[in-house]
Amino acid sequence: MTDITPLPRRRESDTQCYSYVCSSCGKDATNSYMEPHGSRMLAARHCFYCDLAVEREERLKRDHARMTIIDGRIYGPGNRTSGSFRGMAGRRFDIEFLAPSKHEGKRITTFDLWAGETLTPSQREQFPDTARFLDGARQAQVGETTCWNGSDGKTEPYPLPHSLDLA
Ligand SMILES: [Zn+2]
Repeated sequence: MTDITPLPRRRESDTQCYSYVCSSCGKDATNSYMEPHGSRMLAARHCFYCDLAVEREERLKRDHARMTIIDGRIYGPGNRTSGSFRGMAGRRFDIEFLAPSKHEGKRITTFDLWAGETLTPSQREQFPDTARFLDGARQAQVGETTCWNGSDGKTEPYPLPHSLDLA
């Protein structure tokens, strides 16, 4: 193989890692990551971000109809209603699921919302949004900073996320 360059090892026993050009985005990459990432990245000649996109795509293929995707971003609505370390500092977010979600038309309230990865443009075409925020909740972009406004809390909360079979 001439398209990969071995990276120096500190010890003989260290795993041999390589540098190469990412086959997907064309950036310089190495596969010096934990397994199973390292081997998969080398096999596909992927950089860290393109490997993440592959992993995300596998999850989307498997679980799309049970995921919470709003404006091309994956969310994890948690069930905790008290205590510290809740997502979005415990603020309230009301969410309605849309087709093609299997929960189309159902609504939940979460006080523990976690923002996950953003889909690539081609993933957004293939895997459309499955949900939307309600009652004034939204993602806002202020320069480089992304922030979220919670729901206004004027309505009774909807059931917690565990009322639905979410992925
Ligand atoms: Zn890449």
